[in-house]
Parts: sequence; C-alpha cells; structure tokens
Amino acid sequence: MGVLRMGYAHVRVTDMAEAKEHYANTLGLYEVLEEDGRVYYKGWDEWDHHSVVLEEGGVGLVKFGFKVQYEDDIDDIEKKAQSFGCTVARMSEGENPEVSDGIRIFTPSEHVFEVYHSQTLIGTEVGTHNPESFPRHLVGVGVPAIDHALITAADVKGMERFLTHTFGFFATERVQTSFDVDADHIGTWMTSTNQIHQLAVIQGPQGKLHHFAFKLADWTEVGHAADLFSMDEVSIDIGPTRHGITRGQTVYFFDPSGNRNEVFAGGYAAYPDRPVSIWTPDKLAKGIFYHARELNDSFTSVLT
Ligand code: FE
Repeated sequence: MGVLRMGYAHVRVTDMAEAKEHYANTLGLYEVLEEDGRVYYKGWDEWDHHSVVLEEGGVGLVKFGFKVQYEDDIDDIEKKAQSFGCTVARMSEGENPEVSDGIRIFTPSEHVFEVYHSQTLIGTEVGTHNPESFPRHLVGVGVPAIDHALITAADVKGMERFLTHTFGFFATERVQTSFDVDADHIGTWMTSTNQIHQLAVIQGPQGKLHHFAFKLADWTEVGHAADLFSMDEVSIDIGPTRHGITRGQTVYFFDPSGNRNEVFAGGYAAYPDRPVSIWTPDKLAKGIFYHARELNDSFTSVLT
C-alpha cells in the first residue's frame, strides 16, 4: 500500500500556553502527552497516539510524519528517496514518543518528512465496539482528525516528481502556466488514496509551511467552526468559503503564533486514473476562493 496518510504535523509555537488554548480549547484536540517541552495531541476520531506536536520556540514547521502500511514500505521509500538524490537518515523507535522506527527524508523542497509504520494505538474516543457517532462532550470545534497540508517549494514540478517517485502519490489538481503538457507547474494537489489531497505544494520559498488542515464533515460544521473562531477571537484569514480546487469547504485561520490552520470539508473521491483538473493563473483566485474570486494579501504572503 505504501503511504496511508499524513500522520502528524510537528510545528513550532511562540507561546505554549496560548497555543494550548487554541489547539485544545478552540479546536478541541485531546492532549495525550507533554514531554521535553513538547505537547502531543490527537483528534477524537484518530486512533494513533498523536497527530499534532507543538514545540515552544519560534514558528513554522519542524516536520511532517507520513504513515505507511507495512514495515517493508520504509525500505522501499528509503531506496526511492535516495535514488531521487535526497539525503535520508534512519530514525529509531522512540525518537518521537510512541512512534516506530523509520526514516527521515530531507526533501528537495527543504522540508523534513518522517516515514514510520506504526504509532501506539490509543483508539478513537468512541471506540470500535458498537461506537456512538461522536463523543458527547466535545470541546470547541471538536475536530475529528488532521487532514492535509500545503507547503511551498521553489520547484513545484520537481516536488511533484519526487512525491510521485518516492511516495507513489498522484496529482488530483494542478495550477499550471497553461493547459499545455509541458507547462510549468505553480501548484499541485497530491494523494495516494481516495482522499482528495494529503499534501499540496505551491510555488514559493523553500522549506515553508502555508497551512495544515483539520477535517470536518460538511458546510454546517465549517460554519459552526467559524462562529467559534469569532467567539474565541481567533484571527480568521478567510472564509467560510469554497475552494474551486478540490471543491472543499473551508475556513483559514491562524493559531496564536501565526501558523495558518484550516478546517476543510467536502472534496471528492480521488482516483489515480481520474484526469487531473488543471487551473490556469487567470482563474487561480477562483480556484483558491471560489466565491470571492480574488486572493487576499495574506494568503499569498504569510508563510511560517
Ligand atoms: Fe488546505
């Protein structure tokens, strides 16, 4: 199977107390561990130990973890990343609490991707034995799970090749300079499953984070989340609105340190044989914000 999903996002925050307020009380993630200045969270419908790691000191991305189905997938991905020219380091079990051994890839975009095959199984908050639909006492938005992330890279086409070669990802949607097959790529939305995207890459500086997103069910939940962001004085970047690209429903907002988050619902089922949807720069604003049809200043300029 190879890569199952983006399993965790590990980010820096300037002030842990403020960050905890945001991630635990506004978003409603469950704190599962605090150790060595890091706080670990999971969503209520996630079964693995954690999906978000906060580390005090600065801002921006430390690394992403991608979970593979089988231990053998690690060796396979290691060889593929090395053959692509990437530096790959071995990672021991426990280097990340409750996470198996694996590899750490230094990507062509100058991000760090860890690949691992297991995390301590905690189970979802509703369990697997005659489970209820949701936990009765959710806090704040009560996000069920992490969903995807968007990073920036100098060479988007190169990153698409890397993710195809190494992770077996395929593009579902793309922004190109034109519809021509040899056009330059400005952005790519990629996955290895039916999930519309696990990781998107847009043109920009190396090693930066644009946002990481949490899953919601539908428009109603996205609107409810936006209401809660107002109640909690969360800085909203844009939304609720729809993306043309992926057709997802969204609110972009910032954590207290300035890392952009998103709540994301909808999208459609991805298949590797579905023709890639292609957007051109003249329709980029509609692709990103389907209703406003114009980009706001912060969307293109604020990265961490
Ligand atoms: Fe997104």
